[in-house]
Amino acid sequence: MKGAWVTLATNDSYSLGALVLAHSLKQVGTTRELAILITPGVTNSMRTRLSQVFNLVQEVNVLDSRDQANLRLLQRPELGITFTKLHCWRLTQYEKCVFLDADTLVLQNCDELFDREELSAAPDVGWPDCFNSGVFVYRPSGETYDKLIQFALDKGSFDGGDQGLLNLYFSDWAHKDISKHLPFIYNVCSTAFYSYLPAFKQFGKDVKIIHFIGSAKPWLQYFDTETQKVRPSSDVGHLAVILQRWWDIFCSLIHPNLS
Ligand code: UDP
Ligand code: MN
Repeated sequence: MKGAWVTLATNDSYSLGALVLAHSLKQVGTTRELAILITPGVTNSMRTRLSQVFNLVQEVNVLDSRDQANLRLLQRPELGITFTKLHCWRLTQYEKCVFLDADTLVLQNCDELFDREELSAAPDVGWPDCFNSGVFVYRPSGETYDKLIQFALDKGSFDGGDQGLLNLYFSDWAHKDISKHLPFIYNVCSTAFYSYLPAFKQFGKDVKIIHFIGSAKPWLQYFDTETQKVRPSSDVGHLAVILQRWWDIFCSLIHPNLS
């Protein structure tokens, strides 16, 4: 079965996240390919760097006028990034994929995720009857892609983003099949560290994928180049240890190659 990890970056900042993510996957010895969807906002020099670590760098453009559905999208610019993520269903050279947001970091090998079926995802911390769309297992299919686009144009998204849309489309996730509920350790939102600290102390060592949701993106933190330590802003001070892991990968494997 040909499988790939898939992520997305529309600019160079998120591309840095994607590069660290890709290296974290290699560090844990994944046997699957790495693919990234990019948009015209990613610079050429960044594309070169991405192609050094990803097996596939696929440019997608939501405003592609050759496509009927995309023509209708011209009237709905607010759905831009949401629709860009949906392009992951078009990677039909792969049989099964796991989508990972560019703000995730893999801490332990998770290749077993490829044994799961579409659509498998972990609960969202804000509303656990919804899944969080930062990590999900899916099957690329042109048919599903078309249906998702049509669905989005007809029904929209209740939160304006891909998570609201995907939860409406895969609406039986909450109750139908428990095997499609990924354990939380596959998508631990960074806010869980302080919202349930005793659980984090008990289970923190089991975390496989960490997800830096919200505005505290690792690449936006202050980094002291002399001490090689990240100095997170006070609101995310409790994340220092985990942010440091991100920066350690960045400094050792990515920064030396940035001109
Ligand atoms: N993304 C992107 N450019 C943007 C915003 C988002 O490429 O300007 C992609 C990126 O892969 C990101 C994902 O869409 O990880 C979802 O956005 P984000 O992670 O910022 O949302 P959150 O997880 O904080 O809700
Ligand atoms: Mn995210």
